[in-house]
Amino acid sequence: MLRKNARRIKSKLKKKISILIFKFRNLGKMRFECPICGYRGPLMDIAPSTGLRKHAKCPQCNAVERHRLQFVVINYVLRDIDTSNLKMLHCAPEPFFYDFFSQRFGQYETADLNRKDVDHNVDLQHLQFADATYDFVFASHVLEHIPDDEKAISEIRRILKPKGIAVLPVPVIAEKTIEYPGPNPNESNHVRAPGMDYFDRFGRYFSKVERFSSDSLPKKYQLFLYEDRSQWPTKECPLRPAMQGEKHIDIVPVCYV
Ligand SMILES: [Zn+2]
Repeated sequence: MLRKNARRIKSKLKKKISILIFKFRNLGKMRFECPICGYRGPLMDIAPSTGLRKHAKCPQCNAVERHRLQFVVINYVLRDIDTSNLKMLHCAPEPFFYDFFSQRFGQYETADLNRKDVDHNVDLQHLQFADATYDFVFASHVLEHIPDDEKAISEIRRILKPKGIAVLPVPVIAEKTIEYPGPNPNESNHVRAPGMDYFDRFGRYFSKVERFSSDSLPKKYQLFLYEDRSQWPTKECPLRPAMQGEKHIDIVPVCYV
């Protein structure tokens, strides 16, 4: 027990020191605030296979732009709702959202296609749940991996109760959605590049779809994607279209039954 505590204190201290070093090395960089963990200071640049993204990652909780945006939007959407009696399904669950959701919802369940650390292994195109099982479904950056996404959207709608809500963000990386002929392994097997028009698909299954955008929320949280998309298409992402500008908005769509 003592040894375990000592280990925890040591790793916390290590994290604090690495954050201090990061802040010191980036004194001239723009400063922001992480709405999830409360960190204040510069954010980390990251370089996934799709290219460099500036001011992306919180050095304290590791959340990136989309997580901060989703956190702010969901807090706003749920502000007047008593969620203590509601049942939630969290698809492809992000670990740093566990506490946020599980403390908020009366019943909290997780789901994924293959992962072992979830309550249900599911294929969103054929859900095993009865109609009207859940009050709230969150599936972030999932639909761009699913070939028959219309079926998945209709399945999510089917398992929601009356007054249910689904939050289903996808990366917005084109003006107009481009369907790929197959999954691209360099984009974590994305089968499309969603555009702004992608969210129209939700309107066929839900009575109302609200779109929350990076530019309608406080700048201090840094909810944009600073990414040079003029270099697209690349060898790794041959079907991503070039986009002008370095600062791009992100969208969180909130779908109401
Ligand atoms: Zn954070």
